[in-house]
Amino acid sequence: MSIKFTQSCPTCGRRIDIRASLLGCTVACQHCGAEFTANANEQSRIGREPTEDLLDRVEKALRRAEEASMVGANSEVTP
Ligand SMILES: [Zn+2]
Repeated sequence: MSIKFTQSCPTCGRRIDIRASLLGCTVACQHCGAEFTANANEQSRIGREPTEDLLDRVEKALRRAEEASMVGANSEVTP
């Protein structure tokens, strides 16, 4: 059984499964072929930014949907 960890590719940002035995080694991205050093600590630092960006985007979308539903409710109530 091989232990794996997930790291975000610094080039394309996609998640890559890397064998724990390759920690510290140069690995190639499965998606774009870019080479980088497998580093579990780096992963949590890089992985944070896209997550926050995504949450921010989801929040904005929710706010927009909320505003839209509010406008809809108002126009229904107003005679
Ligand atoms: Zn990549």
